[in-house]
Amino acid sequence: MKIMYTDCVIIGAGPAGLKAGQLLHSLGHKVCILEKEEIPGGKLNIWYELFPHNESADGILQQMLADINYPIRTSIIIDSISRNSKGFLLRDQNGDEYRSRALLIATGFKPFDARQKEEYGYGIFENVITSVELEKMFKENKITNSKGLVPKRIALIHCVGSRDIKVGSEFCSANCCITGIKQAIELKKMIPDLNIYCLYMDLRLGGRFFEDCYKDSQVHHKIQFIRGRLSETNENADQTIVLRYEDTLAGRPAKLTADMVVLLVGMQPDHSILKLLPDIDERVGSDGFFGNGRIDQADQNSDNDLFFAGSCTGPKSIIQSTDEASEVAFRVNKYLKKRLHTSIQDQYDGVWIQHP
Ligand SMILES: Cc1cc2nc3c(=O)[nH]c(=O)nc-3n(C[C@H](O)[C@H](O)[C@H](O)COP(=O)(O)OP(=O)(O)OC[C@H]3O[C@@H](n4cnc5c(N)ncnc54)[C@H](O)[C@@H]3O)c2cc1C
Ligand code: SF4
Repeated sequence: MKIMYTDCVIIGAGPAGLKAGQLLHSLGHKVCILEKEEIPGGKLNIWYELFPHNESADGILQQMLADINYPIRTSIIIDSISRNSKGFLLRDQNGDEYRSRALLIATGFKPFDARQKEEYGYGIFENVITSVELEKMFKENKITNSKGLVPKRIALIHCVGSRDIKVGSEFCSANCCITGIKQAIELKKMIPDLNIYCLYMDLRLGGRFFEDCYKDSQVHHKIQFIRGRLSETNENADQTIVLRYEDTLAGRPAKLTADMVVLLVGMQPDHSILKLLPDIDERVGSDGFFGNGRIDQADQNSDNDLFFAGSCTGPKSIIQSTDEASEVAFRVNKYLKKRLHTSIQDQYDGVWIQHP
């Protein structure tokens, strides 16, 4: 069994965890990131190009990793988290221990499971895929349908698993409208004579430069936007997909046939770490994301030693996730400075309380 003493353990090596780790390390703190996957980077390992500037996700990840000169432990499954008044004790499946004054959770989000929207045909019809799977196709530089043919018509469906009381996610995932536009432009660049239809409830493009992407998609790439709510999909004998929807501008039912359908899945809270966290109940919002989502000046001066950053606190873009991670890293720094008089080994003296 190995024991590692740190000032701050960060759980999750996505963009938020990496940013917080880099900042805390540069402020002179001993940091360690624990990551369950084999490689660090979170969703940057899955995406191809990033909105709004079409930067390579892999390029951004390599830049972030080039700055790392502190330990990132990958393939780590955390078994337990205990705490006492001086800090945290984490144990992994190999029996190794990590003792830390502060704990920062940066465990990110999980994509909505599109099987829950059975009427959209995901998992039933081969030519209905998700935006996550489309990113994989971009990376492989190969956009083909189930028969291996290049599609001529693709429909992108907004708000899949978001703003939907039936699946218990009433919040807007904030990033899928712009993801749809990003993916539509990428598709058009790869297959110039493709017809692309975006079926949306209303477009939410609140981020910086998002409107520019929207304009570009219409003016230069001729993407067609249809205000409509999909009700069901069916498959033709040739495996093309028939979409029945309500045209909410015209106020009448309508029909569209596509070779492929892409479901723009929303961002869901990932609760895998929840059962291990002490005193967490009051720190989960009604939407299931961590933290309370409020401006909390008092928190900045408190003895709170458990911090959250990135998309685990709500749907965010990468820049919003890393911005929050920087802000939280400064709060961790403030907390740690108050604690510097206690050596980490002193934490042995306390009584460890494991949860549950
Ligand atoms: C389809 C889609 C496309 C997107 N495209 C873009 C884009 O182009 N541009 C953009 O700005 N944003 C995009 N986003 C949003 C972007 O993915 C998030 O903003 C970003 O991933 C948030 O970073 P994060 O570090 O908070 O979380 P994540 O990237 O989810 O990373 C979390 C990390 O924590 C690890 N982890 C989780 N649980 C544990 C555990 N128990 N123990 C150890 N490790 C754990 C995970 O393995 C992962 O490595 C997109 C989102 C979707 C759904
Ligand atoms: S960002 Fe757009 S697609 Fe995503 S939930 Fe909000 S409105 Fe729907």
